[in-house]
Amino acid sequence: MPELPEVETIVCELRAQCLGRSITSAELLRGDMLKRTADTFDSFAAFFMGRFFQGIDRTGKFITFHLDNGNKLIAHLGMTGKFISAKNGDPDPAHLCSRYRFADGGWLGHVDIRRFGRLELYRSDEEIESLKGLGIDPLSSQFEADSLLKFVHSPGGNKRRTRAVHTLLMDQSLIAGIGNIYASEALYLAGIRPSRHGGKLTKRDRERLAEAVVQVLRASIRACGTTISDYRRVDDKPGSFKEMLAVYGRPGEPCQACGSEIKKVKIGGRSAFYCGKCQR
Ligand SMILES: [Zn+2]
Repeated sequence: MPELPEVETIVCELRAQCLGRSITSAELLRGDMLKRTADTFDSFAAFFMGRFFQGIDRTGKFITFHLDNGNKLIAHLGMTGKFISAKNGDPDPAHLCSRYRFADGGWLGHVDIRRFGRLELYRSDEEIESLKGLGIDPLSSQFEADSLLKFVHSPGGNKRRTRAVHTLLMDQSLIAGIGNIYASEALYLAGIRPSRHGGKLTKRDRERLAEAVVQVLRASIRACGTTISDYRRVDDKPGSFKEMLAVYGRPGEPCQACGSEIKKVKIGGRSAFYCGKCQR
């Protein structure tokens, strides 16, 4: 599943590919990708016709396309979603869900094999519901060690006190953008065992973890994200952070720091990877 570094990579590439280009037509090919509104295939086309993308940004794992008239397209890539840049005459890729043709030639395609992703249309200043309940973005300037205090001091905090820190890191209502891969990697870097209860983290632990989260995400963005299976960049290239993963997807391999075997456990139904010696 694309997490923050993969979505950030895609957003940067989409900006380079799409901003300012006039859209001559848009097609919705899979009606079930469109959530929230009662838009039809025709109203989807009308929403984009003659407009251009004025800005594209990321909140957690969501992508917002700002049209020049104030309307917005929100996209979530789910498990297998991606955007591809194509030329006129290129064959349609399998599982094409929506397409945006540009006046200067070429088109942007949105592909999603398993279709756990979503598209949402918002008109002018409507409040964007999908972004409302999201927690803090770990790359925003407001993210700091004390952001992790929300684990225990927000409503429902008592329940969170005994939840595993691995589960808390992936809770999109606390911190937006982290999934399995970067939860395991950040906890390794911080020396914190993924099963530790959120309420047991000391101030020093929270500081180390906040630093580790930012460090891991930034390193992955520099490598254009992690391709395990489906994630591809807009030019269809894979990201290269997989080779730099310390624990994720490496059970049984030796820890880079101490040589102990990397372990894999299920926490809250999700896989977590850690070193039993380096992480306490
Ligand atoms: Zn180790």
